[in-house]
Amino acid sequence: MEKIIVLASHNKGKIKEFQKILEPFGYVVKTSADFGHTEEPVEDGKTYQENAYIKAKYYHDALKMPVISDDSGIEIEALGEHYPGVHSARFADKIQEELGKGYEVVNAYILEKIKGNPNRKAAYHCAICLIEKDGEVHYFDGVCEGQITDKITGTHGFGYDPIFKADEGGLYFGIVSEDEKNKISHRGKALQKFVKYLKEKEGN
Ligand code: IMP
Repeated sequence: MEKIIVLASHNKGKIKEFQKILEPFGYVVKTSADFGHTEEPVEDGKTYQENAYIKAKYYHDALKMPVISDDSGIEIEALGEHYPGVHSARFADKIQEELGKGYEVVNAYILEKIKGNPNRKAAYHCAICLIEKDGEVHYFDGVCEGQITDKITGTHGFGYDPIFKADEGGLYFGIVSEDEKNKISHRGKALQKFVKYLKEKEGN
């Protein structure tokens, strides 16, 4: 029987990624728009889990169906503890409003801001929140530690990827393929835990 799960996102890349993971378990991924629901919640949580929960709870309340959501960000030590963190998307929007459109502008701004700083430590974080139909809540977290490069490196990935080098394997996220990135990325790790949960639950 077809099982529907609602993804709390309108990002086409995310929809595809979750669909690919959930399909083998017999799930069909829908978004709130498929049910004519177009409003969005305010993501004002202080942690990735809080934000993921806010999104999942909002659509679970509205649609009374199982909902999956994720929240992510990058933390760059030289910019301040846990910064921009949960504010990663807003931080990038603000720089673009001030300096011009595109993540090239954001990444160039960051490189200039931390130029000469020997502390290049950074980490991507991701929290996935699943709220089952009956309201049971589950979290799956992933972290990918790395370094901020000295210059823009590569054109692959999105967002902050061209200035991020993962410690694991020394992989530049601006250079590696999507599959290579997914094996070690924050989102990839959180998704692997989610898949493990599904396998146990569904007995696959
Ligand atoms: P959200 O989880 O969709 O709210 O995204 C948060 C923000 O974190 C994104 O807009 C990006 O700026 C950044 N981000 C999260 N994951 C990645 C990634 O894998 N690569 C590059 N940037 C990312």
